[in-house]
Amino acid sequence: MDKIDFEKYAESIPKPEIRTDTQPQQDIEVDDVWKIVTENLRMVLDRVEYDSWFAGTHLERVQNGVATLSCSNDFKRETILKDYNKFLQSCLTKATGQNLQIEIVVKQQEQSSPKERYRYATKTGNPIIDLFTKMEGDKRRYEEAVKNARLNPRYTFKSFIVGSNNRLAEAVAQSVVTDMENEGLSKSYNPVFYYGSTGVGKTHLMQAIGNEVLRVNPDRKVSYISIEQFLNEMIEAIRTKKNEDFRTKYREVDLLIIDDIQFVEAYPKTQEELFHTFNTFYQANKQIILASDRPPREIKNITDRLRTRFEGGMVCDIQPPEYETRLAILKQILAEKKVSVPDAFLDLIAKNIETSVRELEGSLNKVITLTKLGEVPSYEEVARILQFDIESKRKRVTPERVIEVVANEFGISTRFLKSSRKTNGIATARQIVMYILRTELELSLKSIAKTVGRKDHTTVLHACEMVPKKLKNSNDLAQKYEKCKGELFY
Ligand code: ADP
Ligand code: MG
Repeated sequence: MDKIDFEKYAESIPKPEIRTDTQPQQDIEVDDVWKIVTENLRMVLDRVEYDSWFAGTHLERVQNGVATLSCSNDFKRETILKDYNKFLQSCLTKATGQNLQIEIVVKQQEQSSPKERYRYATKTGNPIIDLFTKMEGDKRRYEEAVKNARLNPRYTFKSFIVGSNNRLAEAVAQSVVTDMENEGLSKSYNPVFYYGSTGVGKTHLMQAIGNEVLRVNPDRKVSYISIEQFLNEMIEAIRTKKNEDFRTKYREVDLLIIDDIQFVEAYPKTQEELFHTFNTFYQANKQIILASDRPPREIKNITDRLRTRFEGGMVCDIQPPEYETRLAILKQILAEKKVSVPDAFLDLIAKNIETSVRELEGSLNKVITLTKLGEVPSYEEVARILQFDIESKRKRVTPERVIEVVANEFGISTRFLKSSRKTNGIATARQIVMYILRTELELSLKSIAKTVGRKDHTTVLHACEMVPKKLKNSNDLAQKYEKCKGELFY
């Protein structure tokens, strides 16, 4: 890369005042020399270029005709030697009065944060290319880091829907990420212990923390592992007397995520070692995140001090999501897959699957497959395929519930539906109640009449005749009717 006519600039470099008489060769004030050299570099290089190659580069020493520079990685070293060697040499000569060979050593710089090291390493010189290269480089290194950490890149904060069921859990997760950015600070919550029934999003949330930590800084060491894998590794290490290797491996980890802690019950003999491993970690100010399907106090077969360790940071539950969150999750999955499904089906799924997000996803996938086959399936068909137990739900619907739902949909009091008021809106709503009781609940005319406070069952017959006509004539009414049915039966 021939960017600059260095020879031309070399002439313009001012001669520094170096008191060679009082300073023996090996005691040259390297900082002063380097200051002069970098001032000259700054004069001829633009900022991006300078930052890319020289911001983290230092002059270590000048000895025996060799100037030893240090930089943070091999790539930088090679580029400097290839593209800037001659120019650097002439700067150094002018600054020291000696003819020096240049040698560069690669050295991790403790004082600059890992983020900075990373930024310099990917710059190229051209701001545009630089930006793209950085983005590309970022992406590659992030992907590599995610793979090494055994994380699923799909599990991010972005794809994690927050509702009242997991709000605290998510806030704790975010705070862990912030803590991880400030390496030196002690952790706010350590360990974090998440618990909740299967499919509520524990693994997703924990991995989101790992993914985010690596996205911010791919140099961090994250490890996601199930407790079984972890214990098996530990046992194997003890058996083969490689405890030290095991400890060293995990000592390097900044964030340790251990899933399905409840299975620790099956390994009663490893508790001492596990306890010590945790302690070592904890004392080294490393972040630990754990997840289990039950709280620490319900995990059997573990010693009190291990349980106390689990409980020592933040114990936080994740509940099954409520309806709105379930619906939002379904919509988010569709957005991710870039497909759409009629809202009524989403509603059907969200209403019928209440405990597990995993099942929610499974059902949605079935519906996506169905709708892809061509003809849009009917509500009943979808319900049947998803094996939603709509029949037993239907059987549980009481006449009182019908009145309540219709009253709510039409915005009138249930009292009016059972009264003799004949205002148009009320009369129509009352007819809808009668119609539903007749056609869906299959009640007798007499009992329907009684439910809506009538003596005469001909009112019911009349309603059953009128409603289908009214539904045909009014879209608005038909929609309200469908909504009532959805609310009651699906
Ligand atoms: P758990 O570990 O609690 O058994 P998972 O984390 O494996 O549950 O979640 C099951 C599935 O549901 C995963 O595919 C996950 O992405 C999804 N999921 C769970 N909770 C949410 C949420 N709040 N937002 C989006 N997806 C979720
Ligand atoms: Mg899980």
